[in-house]
Amino acid sequence: MVHSKIIFTHIIAGIWLASFYRFTVNKPTMRSNETMDYALFGAYFFAFPFEFSSKDIAPLMVMNGCTVLRAIFYALGRDERGTSDMKQLQEKIVSEGRVLSESVLKVDSFLNHQIDPVLMDAIGEEFASRFSDAGVTKILTIESSGIAPAVMTGLKMGVKPVFARKSQSLTLTDNLYSASVHSFTKNVTSEISVSKDFLDKDDVVLILDDFLANGQAVLGLLNIIEQAGASLAGVGIVIEKGFQPGGKEIRDRGIRVETLANIKTMENGKAEFFEEAMVR
Ligand code: 5GP
Repeated sequence: MVHSKIIFTHIIAGIWLASFYRFTVNKPTMRSNETMDYALFGAYFFAFPFEFSSKDIAPLMVMNGCTVLRAIFYALGRDERGTSDMKQLQEKIVSEGRVLSESVLKVDSFLNHQIDPVLMDAIGEEFASRFSDAGVTKILTIESSGIAPAVMTGLKMGVKPVFARKSQSLTLTDNLYSASVHSFTKNVTSEISVSKDFLDKDDVVLILDDFLANGQAVLGLLNIIEQAGASLAGVGIVIEKGFQPGGKEIRDRGIRVETLANIKTMENGKAEFFEEAMVR
């Protein structure tokens, strides 16, 4: 009875510690179940110095055994949540995407025209989790389809997204960083621009985009980051078409590229992913 009171006290103390951790150090990326994990972890270490017999704290040890495993997965940045959420993305591509040719995928029902906010929320959570250790201060994307994932990621990370504009704007005339980008889908070259007000040398930038094909959009954004003298945290891509050269070209420059769904081939109207084959 006394022991269970002490254990209870330490669980509360652990919850307090975990809440403190969640709301200060790692606020943007933790979920409530993770908070619970850290709470149990904290409770375990609080209980440790006391001379409990192993029988007394056996349930706590079992719970914490699981927690330690999960903590290792978090530390490696590859927790099971990420994979299952991104299965959700693959399933969406399979069920709602339309393969227009061997190299063009249409995902207008959830990403490029109509937007699925639940999926965007999961995407934001996933990018925030993967780049949580990168010290990101700004997200840079390109209008228009990069905006939704960038906003959700910015919300989860507590940083502001900026999108490069493709068209000339009456209100965006000078004080600009600009670069040329050749559009894979439209086959035209356009000028993209970002106001100098929103990107500077102190920024650590995460580039996000909806697709990665030949890498032109990402290279244009990299050019803008260089002009600003800012640092690069990495590149987050919702759908990479791994059979096109952009991903390799960017990774070959030593840049970290995180892709949520990587398509191996779209031959015969079927999308097949690198991790596992999915056919429609
Ligand atoms: P990249 O610049 O890497 O050649 O192409 C990336 C850009 O082209 C993305 O911003 C995306 O808007 C567009 N894009 C490339 N491939 C596809 C595709 O298969 N489907 C759609 N909807 N957009 C694509």
